[in-house]
Amino acid sequence: MMPTGLVLTSPRTFERRHFAMPSIGPDEGLLRVEACGLCGTDHEQYSGDIASSYAFIPGHEVVGIVEEIGEGAAARWGVSQGQRVAVEVFQSCRECRNCRAGVYRRCSTNGLATMVGFADADNGPGLGGGYATHLYLGPDSMLLDIADSLDPVTATLFNPVGAGIRWAVELPQTKPGDVVAILGPGVRGLSAAAAAKEAGAGFVMVTGLGERDAERLALAPAFGADLTVDVSRDDPVRVLRSVVGGKADVVVDVTAKAPAALSQAIGLARVGGTVVLAGVRGSTETPGFDPDHIVYKELQILGALGVDIGAYRQAIDLLASGRYPFAELPRRVAGFDDIESLLQIMAGDRRGIPPIHGVFAPR
Ligand SMILES: [Zn+2]
Ligand SMILES: [Zn+2]
Repeated sequence: MMPTGLVLTSPRTFERRHFAMPSIGPDEGLLRVEACGLCGTDHEQYSGDIASSYAFIPGHEVVGIVEEIGEGAAARWGVSQGQRVAVEVFQSCRECRNCRAGVYRRCSTNGLATMVGFADADNGPGLGGGYATHLYLGPDSMLLDIADSLDPVTATLFNPVGAGIRWAVELPQTKPGDVVAILGPGVRGLSAAAAAKEAGAGFVMVTGLGERDAERLALAPAFGADLTVDVSRDDPVRVLRSVVGGKADVVVDVTAKAPAALSQAIGLARVGGTVVLAGVRGSTETPGFDPDHIVYKELQILGALGVDIGAYRQAIDLLASGRYPFAELPRRVAGFDDIESLLQIMAGDRRGIPPIHGVFAPR
């Protein structure tokens, strides 16, 4: 079978393309893609909100089987042929100052152009993203091994669960007993709730907005939420106060395009609390936001973009533990023929409520 991929040649335009089987040198590898998780980045790439000047195969939450691997690559990556792995989105030269300091996401020789799911399809082997049967693994790839007991579709959650761990626990240094408020009940919000609970949080609240979030909020208790609030009906600050008698030690905002969430996050935090902003608003409008509250409450405001390999490892362990029903999340798995309609729903081009977990699987 010739490797096949869906190339996004311009916004909202896919082309199914066949590629030559890459010849794999000692420092390279080839992955047989089993599943690729979808997130907001995917529909923003599709719609052109994340612009590109070249054609590429999207898909950056990739899980698959190492089909071919060079000797040097096996030693460098610590994986072997036939193994199921997750692929880190960013690549690392392992040699520059940033890579050696562990901040490989700022690698001096890698960046957007070598990101999985954003590499030029007309350059080199071209198989640079997850909407494909195969993914080419260059020398700077980073791979995480996945237990055979974990099915590949659930395993694609290494990415959002890793985000939940980094955003709700590592960055704010959540401690046992903390009150944690999470804004946004999507897969990242649910993951953040589970991560906070695993870290020993004493109380976890998850908020959502209206009918679109109703199903997600209903799932939140199974992922560690002690309280859910629909902010279209109730004031989250008032509800939290009435239940725990105070405000949150840690607030994590994982909403997308929700301008009012910023003022809610600031309002929910206690004096001296920590607010992690991981959701982008896509707007300069911030209704109700009063920056003076940051001063009066001496808040710590932390921006969070992405995840790193340490959080991914913990995420894979948490998924494999089965302690939270990640495998049972409502999801839609799309193949080559129907991924476009799924992306259209996610982008809002087509009517319908997006699935909580969208996945591509080559078929
Ligand atoms: Zn993603
Ligand atoms: Zn580097």
